[in-house]
Amino acid sequence: MPTLDEALPLILKATLRSTPGAVHPFDSVRLFASAVAALLDRQLRPSVWRPIVEALKDAGLLDPEPMDRAGMLEIQEAIRGKAPAISPRSLSPVKQLARWLVDRHQGRAEILAEPRLSIEVLREELASIRGIGPAGADAIILAVSGRPSYPVDRGTYRILVRHGWLDASSSYEEARDLMVHHAGDDLVRLGEAAAGMTWLASHFCRVTAPRCEACPLASMLPPGGPVGAETD
Ligand code: SF4
Repeated sequence: MPTLDEALPLILKATLRSTPGAVHPFDSVRLFASAVAALLDRQLRPSVWRPIVEALKDAGLLDPEPMDRAGMLEIQEAIRGKAPAISPRSLSPVKQLARWLVDRHQGRAEILAEPRLSIEVLREELASIRGIGPAGADAIILAVSGRPSYPVDRGTYRILVRHGWLDASSSYEEARDLMVHHAGDDLVRLGEAAAGMTWLASHFCRVTAPRCEACPLASMLPPGGPVGAETD
């Protein structure tokens, strides 16, 4: 059976076919802005969240304290006319992160990249914030902390299970550790793997009836086809 290591080049290649510039948009901007981008990237296409981040920046809201103080209407007003509208539900994790930074860390986003704070503690604290959860925590860690992680979305999980690289009963942590183990400590590579998996899942590896015949990972399937999936 083909291994995940053998499939990784194809997964990384798929990144190039995802939205251009979607990978690593976070490294050149400030920490809180990077964390906001990482959270929005989990819910919205880059073509949608990028102008939102720009609009928030123009309005001075890409700092924890102003973001914490701002009401939803004020935020939406700052975006209006400059970016697609965003729902309160999509904004909620951003607001909650700002509240956590203000309440627990004097509004200092630097805590997200503080090397003396163990990654386990940081992950646990971020994951406990309402609306962020384990995958949001790992997205922030990968984008901001300078330490390796992998935000496991449903698509990644599906692909790993269907190829027999992960048991269907595995936990979120087991899936994350598997991806980090195979993609290595290279943050760029981890980001590319996450983007590639997301693209493959949304275009081919859907919940029902995966389109294996057209999928770049078709040659990596186990001999009996996708594990546990109904095909066309
Ligand atoms: S669509 Fe088929 S070949 Fe592609 S990732 Fe899913 S199971 Fe694998």
